[in-house]
Amino acid sequence: MAETIGCDGLVRMLRGAAARINAEHAMLSRLDAATGDGDHGTTMRRAMGKLEGALAEASSHAPGGVLSDVGWAILGVDGGATGPLLGSFFMGMAEAVGPRDALDSPALASAFEAALAAVRKQTKAQVGDKTMIDALAPGVAALRAAADAGKGPAAALAAAADAAQQGAAGTKDLQARFGRARNLGERSIGSPDPGATSIGLIFRGFADALASQST
Ligand code: ADP
Ligand code: MG
Repeated sequence: MAETIGCDGLVRMLRGAAARINAEHAMLSRLDAATGDGDHGTTMRRAMGKLEGALAEASSHAPGGVLSDVGWAILGVDGGATGPLLGSFFMGMAEAVGPRDALDSPALASAFEAALAAVRKQTKAQVGDKTMIDALAPGVAALRAAADAGKGPAAALAAAADAAQQGAAGTKDLQARFGRARNLGERSIGSPDPGATSIGLIFRGFADALASQST
């Protein structure tokens, strides 16, 4: 198992995330129909189309450049809260990666921490507010913990995906304090947050793409 992720590994991760979201877009829209306006799957599918377009155009063969292309493309997705939040995630990651051509687990954890910090600049939502932060924060913390424990990138991302998906599932019992779902008050309880569910799927897509790697 590779102990660093280079550009090829990163591209595989990004494509894995897009495939996960595309396979589940109907479920994501169903979740959003329960607490919002029902467009989350469509918006996410559009965002993943932009991601794949950015990868196909490949203006850069360095991880930071690829992430920046992907971030810009997703920032351009209109309709919905997701474009700016998810776009910022990849822009923050790009900035932290800088000119490196490969990332070991500690560098990967730093990149994800920077991505989370960039999202936090866009929203005051905290863990417990029933938003994508409820998947992102535990996912990134688990990635850092795994890196600190000496795990390689694939194992660290698998731990991150477990934590992110667990965080997303936990939003079912929370009341929304941000986004459209907030308007429902207590009636937002009982269905998982679509944005958190998307983040769980994205992290799972990242992890599975590396797990299926043979070298
Ligand atoms: P919209 O609500 O504009 O239709 P989407 O349906 O694409 O956007 O995305 C909804 C998701 O976006 C929510 O489930 C939540 O995770 C996230 N979200 C919305 N508003 C915020 C916010 N202010 N802070 C953090 N996350 C938010
Ligand atoms: Mg919506």
